[in-house]
Amino acid sequence: MRAFNFSAGPATLPEPVLRQAAEEMLDFRGVGASIVELSHRGAEFMAVAAQAEADLRTLLSVPEDYAVLFLSGGATTLQALLPMNLAAAGQAADYVVTGHWGKTAIKQARPYVSVNIAASGEADGFRGIPPRAGWQLSADAAYVHITANETIHGVEFRDIPEVGDVPLVADFSSSIASEPVDVRRFGVIYGGAQKNLGPVGISFAIVRRDLLQREGQSRADIFDFRSHLAKDSMLNTPPTWNWYLLGLTVKWMLAEGGVAEFARRNARKAAALYMAIDGSGGFYRNEVDPAVRSRMNVPFFLRDAALDKAFLDGAKAARLIGLKGHRALGGMRASLYNAMPETGVQALIDFMDDFARRHG
Ligand SMILES: *Cc1c(COP(=O)(O)O)cnc(C)c1O
Repeated sequence: MRAFNFSAGPATLPEPVLRQAAEEMLDFRGVGASIVELSHRGAEFMAVAAQAEADLRTLLSVPEDYAVLFLSGGATTLQALLPMNLAAAGQAADYVVTGHWGKTAIKQARPYVSVNIAASGEADGFRGIPPRAGWQLSADAAYVHITANETIHGVEFRDIPEVGDVPLVADFSSSIASEPVDVRRFGVIYGGAQKNLGPVGISFAIVRRDLLQREGQSRADIFDFRSHLAKDSMLNTPPTWNWYLLGLTVKWMLAEGGVAEFARRNARKAAALYMAIDGSGGFYRNEVDPAVRSRMNVPFFLRDAALDKAFLDGAKAARLIGLKGHRALGGMRASLYNAMPETGVQALIDFMDDFARRHG
């Protein structure tokens, strides 16, 4: 029996997707070989790749003047590719830091640009988002970088900030496709797939095409967005299996009703869990400003950390896994991505209520 898996990433995938992948593993649609064994240039995989892109464009309503790239190397590699492709060497780039992944983005960018930390929530322990009015943006920045949802700290932008004519670049690794988003507000939307879009090993970048005309910096072909685009993200052998699984996952999301439907489900799931935490009389607590609490990743702490192990053991016995918090924060974290059903969140809440009654 499958457990409810609250892991932050790699994360739970829709069961129908896993079943289909299992059924097609040995013989992909009558070809007599697995999709993993076929050339990426063959008709079968080319069709899989094109369909995945078309479906992702439909799911996210990506306008035609945006390119969609599928790459390997994860979101972290993209964090280094962004300045190489979008900024002149040493040019200013603005970063708004609302958690761990914003700091990672800066670390990857520093060799290539003059990083300006326009605002940071670090002094407050990343429990909120610094108000837009206080951001110190550079006049000549190549772009402004934000992390749409901070997977570890559980802080999520609930409004897209206005940054004028400077392109807004957003790491959407852990909230892509969780609700409708106006792609036109962004220069680049990027992320790894392994949170809400499929398996690890493939990442996506949705790039406004005019930005690809920027000269960027001296770089190898393999680090150049334009080269990848010219070859339909097959400049070298792409991660075919991961691309295929991403395609199945996106198709499943469309069949379930698309991002508008997931926005409703995700809002209900997050509201129920936060209500259980806030209503526990302090037995559980989440410290994030309620206005920017993440709908995807809910970090929480037990009043008595000595009970953490008992909590995790009991959860595991109840078939609720992946709840241990990130080592940077401790405590617990429940990730509520699109593939987590509402019944799973209810099972977690029931377990938490029962645990609090027995130990409170
Ligand atoms: C997981 C994650 C990353 C890192 O992704 P990798 O694929 O491991 O490089 C970056 N940003 C956010 C918001 C994430 O959730």
